[in-house]
Amino acid sequence: MPAVSSEPADMVIFDLDGTLVDSDAALVGAFVAHGVAAETVTFGHVLADECARLGIDLDSYLDAYDPNRVQPFPGVAEMIGHLEQAGIRWAICSNKHPRSGHAEMTRLGWRPQGAWFSDSFDGGPKNLVVPVAELGVDPLRLIYVGDTDHDREVAAEVGCRFVAAGWNPRVEPRAGEWVAHHPAEILDLLGLTPRR
Ligand SMILES: [Mg+2]
Repeated sequence: MPAVSSEPADMVIFDLDGTLVDSDAALVGAFVAHGVAAETVTFGHVLADECARLGIDLDSYLDAYDPNRVQPFPGVAEMIGHLEQAGIRWAICSNKHPRSGHAEMTRLGWRPQGAWFSDSFDGGPKNLVVPVAELGVDPLRLIYVGDTDHDREVAAEVGCRFVAAGWNPRVEPRAGEWVAHHPAEILDLLGLTPRR
């Protein structure tokens, strides 16, 4: 896979659910605990919106959400370790509720440069405008890794490179876009050569 652009990327921002962590079971489980049929739950939204759509109280949902059911996708923890070893800054930008987002990062021992959750966007869906401004990063040197159409849109809005988290079997890559089929391929895109 060739390098991302002539401008070498020096920062990676990741979506969280469905990108760094496989949280489908935890997300769905908390709805099922409230009597919602699993197949009616959809992904990638602001939690408050999905709770409202399904008629669930947000705090009650969060009480039922078990962050211990959430695991990184295989290869993710190693990839993050390599980024840190190489001095590549990384961050998280997610629609996840901050209560469960911070709980998961603490449990996994992750210390990104920044983490923007659903409380960072004035009640609206996430964007990359806020983290790009607060980090002072050049979008041309930034990669955003995500798993949904909304992730593609937030990357396009700031003009950074989007990479589809193709290691999530739910991801449907679009023609011509960058896809990483394994987290280690993120390192390839940055010109790093990890030991597999
Ligand atoms: Mg996601």
